[in-house]
Amino acid sequence: MPVQPHEHVRRTPVEPSWRRFPGWRDVTREQWRDPRWQRVHCVRNTRQLRAVVGDLLDERFYDDLAADQESFATMSMLLPPQMLNTMVPEGAADFTGAFYADPVRRYMLPVRSDRDPEWPSHPYSSRDSLHEAEMWVVEGLTHRYPTKVLAELVSTCPQYCGHCTRMDLVGNSTPQVRKHKLELKPVDRQDRMLDYLRRTPAVRDVVVSGGDVANVPWPQLESFLARLLEIETVRDIRLATKALAGLPQHWLQPQVVEGMSRVARTAASRGVNLAVHTHVNHAQSVTPLVAEAARALLDAGVRDVRNQGVLMRGVNATPDDLLELCFALQGEANILPYYFYLCDMIPNAEHWRTSVAEAQDLQAAIMGYLPGYATPRIVCDVPYVGKRWVHQVVEYDRELGVSYWTKNYRTGIESDDPNALDRRYPYYDPISTLGETGRRWWRKHERA
Ligand code: SF4
Repeated sequence: MPVQPHEHVRRTPVEPSWRRFPGWRDVTREQWRDPRWQRVHCVRNTRQLRAVVGDLLDERFYDDLAADQESFATMSMLLPPQMLNTMVPEGAADFTGAFYADPVRRYMLPVRSDRDPEWPSHPYSSRDSLHEAEMWVVEGLTHRYPTKVLAELVSTCPQYCGHCTRMDLVGNSTPQVRKHKLELKPVDRQDRMLDYLRRTPAVRDVVVSGGDVANVPWPQLESFLARLLEIETVRDIRLATKALAGLPQHWLQPQVVEGMSRVARTAASRGVNLAVHTHVNHAQSVTPLVAEAARALLDAGVRDVRNQGVLMRGVNATPDDLLELCFALQGEANILPYYFYLCDMIPNAEHWRTSVAEAQDLQAAIMGYLPGYATPRIVCDVPYVGKRWVHQVVEYDRELGVSYWTKNYRTGIESDDPNALDRRYPYYDPISTLGETGRRWWRKHERA
């Protein structure tokens, strides 16, 4: 065999032992598999982290974490034990060093020293950087593409990711970010969403999201899906849940599995493609419990479980990390590696973001190792445009890190805009990835 840039050797996933953490020494397997136990024992602050991890971590980590929560965090802390247990999975002699370097920790539990020292935020970063709320046709229903909508049923999740693109709305307020709130009662919001979809037959594809649909009480979610399935023009339904990886116990509950079977049967009888989309960013998160939950969804009749990861420096932005994640998803958990998004231009995200050029190189590096249908596309969600494959860029100023993109459809707010399809829409690379000339230009530009 010739030597390859990436050598893959199958590794069967194992559930890391939670008993390596002092606070979980006595936790039983039954407790661990219980979603209520997982939710009650989520880590929400440094005090609770200390109660679990204790002296394994030096004081400097707790201080670093507290400083970040105070000055930079756009998301509050919420870590289910399942997710914390995927960090430093085998333990380490220098636990603090390994914890700092851990890829899951780096995006789920960011600390002050992670952030970019000069440009923690890009000058053009913004809350709701994808302008989803501007495109709401009903509160929480974003109509951006001609045939697809995004329905946000809740603004909470069982876990909060540091880089969340919906940091404007999702989760609790932090010292830095006062969150917007959904105003309508859930039942009224859902009625209005369904009413819009009945009146808009061009929409054939509905992403049911949040937040995370694992936080919608199952009877409510099932009732919404049953009514959605009555709309004959809806042909694709995708349920978005990171909890498949963060809290797989939720998707293994008998009530949820049985309910999903009923929904899947109805979908199949009406010829509707029902799928679950999840959000896994590193192979460490693909544990046997995650594979079991994905299997349960497929056995319940869901057509596909797919992954939409986020490309992040220090987490997965190398060919080896991306490929190992894809092999784990595809080979060990029956989850299709579907997309990787560039991390969006929200505040304080510059240390995670990669340039378009880096993303193009990564896309080239991962081609040819997986079946074509399981080779993910790396995409940039361009503000006012939508997802573009990274090689679709039409013009690219590498010195200033500005790429330009076009689109072939109008978003919901451009029906009267004659130039929408001719315009070039900009996207910005992180300034720290530019050469000295580019950085100097941005310093001057920001002062101006
Ligand atoms: S699960 Fe999704 S919506 Fe929830 S915090 Fe993470 S990225 Fe945001």
